[in-house]
Amino acid sequence: MSCIFCRIIKGEIPCLKLFESEKTLAFLDIGPLSKGHALVIPKFHGAKLADIPDEHLTEILPTLKKLVVASGATDYNILQNNGTIAHQQVHHVHFHMIPKPNETEGLGVQWPAT
Ligand code: ADP
Repeated sequence: MSCIFCRIIKGEIPCLKLFESEKTLAFLDIGPLSKGHALVIPKFHGAKLADIPDEHLTEILPTLKKLVVASGATDYNILQNNGTIAHQQVHHVHFHMIPKPNETEGLGVQWPAT
């Protein structure tokens, strides 16, 4: 199996796991753009959003919200790239949660404690 995120789901490649359920996995990005940069993925393999059945997407937004709240970030980006032209590098659907530093409160990220 060549999909790196499918290998993470199977436990063949390690990750720092933040949340897991039957259909969804969240873990820290290996090349974080900021402290707490996390990825949320459906366990169903598909390259682009339109390839994923609806029932495998229902937990994604609530999981992103969970991560935002747990991180303590006041400012953050939720990003999802589809296709090479759109800068997608890993072709298994994933959503980025990227906490942003806050000028008045510093980074604002209390969690995960890495
Ligand atoms: P981009 O790199 O342009 O953001 P993607 O949206 O496809 O493209 O993002 C892929 C993300 O997956 C990157 O942020 C990268 O750091 C992350 N990544 C790649 N391999 C791993 C891994 N083994 N564990 C955690 N994150 C990974």
